[in-house]
Amino acid sequence: MSNTDLMPIAGAIDPVPVARDITPRPDGRVDLIGLPKKRIAELFAEAGLDAKQAKLRAKQVFHWLYHRGVTEFEAMTDIAKTMRPWLAERFVIGRPNVVEAQVSSDGTRKWLLQTDDGHEFEMVFIPDADRGTLCVSSQVGCTLNCRFCHTGTMRLVRNLTPGEIVGQVMLARDALSEWPKGANDTRLATMAGLDDEETEAEYTADGRLLTNIVMMGMGEPLYNFDHVKQALTLVMDGDGLALSKRRITLSTSGVVPMMARCGEEIGVNLAVSLHAVTKDVRDEIVPINKKYGLEELLQACADYPGASNARRITFEYVMLKDKNDSDEDARELVRLLKAYKLPAKVNLIPFNPWPGAAYDCSSPERIRAFSNIVFEGGISAPVRTPRGRDIDAACGQLKTAAHKKSRAERDREAASEAANEG
Ligand code: SAH
Ligand code: SF4
Repeated sequence: MSNTDLMPIAGAIDPVPVARDITPRPDGRVDLIGLPKKRIAELFAEAGLDAKQAKLRAKQVFHWLYHRGVTEFEAMTDIAKTMRPWLAERFVIGRPNVVEAQVSSDGTRKWLLQTDDGHEFEMVFIPDADRGTLCVSSQVGCTLNCRFCHTGTMRLVRNLTPGEIVGQVMLARDALSEWPKGANDTRLATMAGLDDEETEAEYTADGRLLTNIVMMGMGEPLYNFDHVKQALTLVMDGDGLALSKRRITLSTSGVVPMMARCGEEIGVNLAVSLHAVTKDVRDEIVPINKKYGLEELLQACADYPGASNARRITFEYVMLKDKNDSDEDARELVRLLKAYKLPAKVNLIPFNPWPGAAYDCSSPERIRAFSNIVFEGGISAPVRTPRGRDIDAACGQLKTAAHKKSRAERDREAASEAANEG
């Protein structure tokens, strides 16, 4: 995950700089995290194992990486003692670097992470009584400029690699001590409350803290489709992290041309950042709307593979005072969702403020009135309780310190660069 070479991709979908899936490290070793089992076998074969051995070793190593969470080849006890240093000379088992870990007064945890080439991004864990949700980032920064979103004021630095995306889930399992006993270190198992007699088989997903994943951290996941797909494939792999696709939700601001592929090729639940019901308002607050308009977006939702009454699409709607929060907006929202016959639920998100934001949050009474109208229209519209606001971990507050520049500052910089060039 180091020395990430940026490769501009000329794609049908707005090109953004992408990182290679295998990035060269100064020591020449290859990080295995993020690679499919088949690719690991190929690498083992390229390093000199015969095809059969390579396949067998890849299977064993994969199990240790994703099922047991080990970070040292030495811990892979069913691999011959002489083989382990051979692996360690050629490969590493990476994790994103932790710069800082914070805990909110409500139990929400936020980690400031860093890629090997020095870019910072964030991950958030939200514990609830019956579940624990990890909010995962897909990019460092974001190319889109939703007006109410703090991440939107960052420029896009680069896409995260599959290893950096699945690495967040692995790191969360490390931090929550959620690998089966005997994995890395018995201390972790003890912290997870496992006593010596407990077997791995008894330690099932049911008892876990981390039960759900939402691709709702920094970045637009559908602008980093291939890497997000590769990472989530490892998360869902029965031999890998083995989380059900029903427990994973991908949120998009509305990258219409990639939505069908998301359903077909990844198959996770979909959330759409709708936030407005008229062209004017959505153009202003979610500018990608100028490219893919409301009708196109709602049609893509209606066509989303796998959506049904049992698996509804979540429509996220941030409550902005006097901007998108009127009774009329609520009625129009119901009308639109019905017109497209969408199996929908609406999540009303009170706006989370950040320094310099141009909006205020709607009043609690306004939010309740809006929610009631949508409910009366037959669509569930719970109001989300903001979590982790005190540590800037709530929706839309993520932004790393390294890039805290205002738009005005960036405009000034761009103007002076242009002047220098001219
Ligand atoms: N880029 C993707 C996923 C990440 S954002 C997307 O936009 O869908 C997760 C959710 O938080 C999105 O619905 C986003 O619009 C919303 N959000 C952004 N800034 C917010 C803020 N300041 N307050 C409340 N929600 C916000
Ligand atoms: Fe990017 Fe999502 Fe923020 Fe919009 S809301 S700027 S798409 S992270």
